[in-house]
Amino acid sequence: MSKVFVLDTKKRPLDPIHSAQARQLLRNKKAAIFRRFPFTIILKESSVVDAPVSNIRIKLDPGAKITGISLVNDSTGEVIFAAELKHRGFTIRDALNSRRQLRRGRRNRKTRYRKPRFLNRTRPDGWLSPSLMSRIHNVETWVNRLRKLAPIAAISTELVKFDMQLMHNPEIEGKEYQQGTLAGYETREYLLEKWNRQCVYCGVKNVPLQVEHIHPRSKGGSNSITNLTLSCEKCNIKKATKDIKEFLKKDSAKLQKILAQAKKPLANAAAVNATRYKLLEVLKSTSLPVECGSGGLTKFNRTSQQLTKTHWIDAACVGKSTPTLNIKGIKPLLITSNGHGTRQLCRTDKFGFPNRYVPRFKFVNGFQTGDIVKAIVTNGKKIGEYIGRVAVRSTGSFNISAKQGLIQGINHKYCSTIHRKDGYSYGF
Ligand SMILES: [Zn+2]
Repeated sequence: MSKVFVLDTKKRPLDPIHSAQARQLLRNKKAAIFRRFPFTIILKESSVVDAPVSNIRIKLDPGAKITGISLVNDSTGEVIFAAELKHRGFTIRDALNSRRQLRRGRRNRKTRYRKPRFLNRTRPDGWLSPSLMSRIHNVETWVNRLRKLAPIAAISTELVKFDMQLMHNPEIEGKEYQQGTLAGYETREYLLEKWNRQCVYCGVKNVPLQVEHIHPRSKGGSNSITNLTLSCEKCNIKKATKDIKEFLKKDSAKLQKILAQAKKPLANAAAVNATRYKLLEVLKSTSLPVECGSGGLTKFNRTSQQLTKTHWIDAACVGKSTPTLNIKGIKPLLITSNGHGTRQLCRTDKFGFPNRYVPRFKFVNGFQTGDIVKAIVTNGKKIGEYIGRVAVRSTGSFNISAKQGLIQGINHKYCSTIHRKDGYSYGF
């Protein structure tokens, strides 16, 4: 079961509690709701709940579109909270592209032209594009938010796809490549990626592939990763202990291709992921201990515990510290990043001409577009209860996108805020 976050009277995080206990505290008026997403309560009197144990670890599986987040209790293996954070990379890219094109269009009009005065287009070291930075900021925001809600003592994040150190280990023997040990597992995953998940000799796909020595061991071939490839069972038996040059002597084109591919540097496939390294720097600045894991290790942990593949489960499986997980009853909170709107005071049409002015003040009667509100309408055609995201209108008559659909023209008097706009939308 997902647990409920608890704050003490001074807003310090306590150990998360069971939702039934939280309900009881709320019913007895010993606590109040502090935040809806993620659900957090604040105690009205001190020392109702035990002191925090603070061995909770926040675990991250950063992805291009979605980042998995899990809070795991290291000593019990219990998953306390899980979330999937959806980034807005492409929205940012599209918005910047459109702005760039509009500006270019304006500059190309036959108007006064002023030469550029100085070079103001330099980029600082370690610059990442705004869409990539937004992912890092999203994760940073959520790590900081969750630290305020739970006694988090450590961070784990997935840094690289393959652990190169493990694969340089020349001690692995044939059998271990067949998913037995972690090193073998990681090597196999790496080879699958490198050799395109197909048999190098006949090109067959979607069959079990075996790890193969290009220069056979019996003839002095090494166990190094550059001497390994994948083949189907048929080809493996056919090749047996023949040297590759002898086995492929009729097809020299294929032979050259395989030999060239085998030598390709390892670093290539382990693609140094700038975003993840930047994120690591950000996480280290929290002064919590940060553990890094590889994608191979994550998959090894997940498959050895027979868990299904989702972003939050992958996050829970990151790193060597992973205990035997208890994920019973966990429903991840689905968080979508929406940004905080625009600073433009005037929107343009598709030709770049001004056409719609944005109101100077975002707040109307204390509400802001994006707030989640509850409206209990007691009068008129729209009697009923509606919960959803509000779009404010300066007339004071709002639109609410509720479960029932878009409800228009709800007077602000009927509305009360449940969750203030914070740049994210939520679902389960
Ligand atoms: Zn084959």
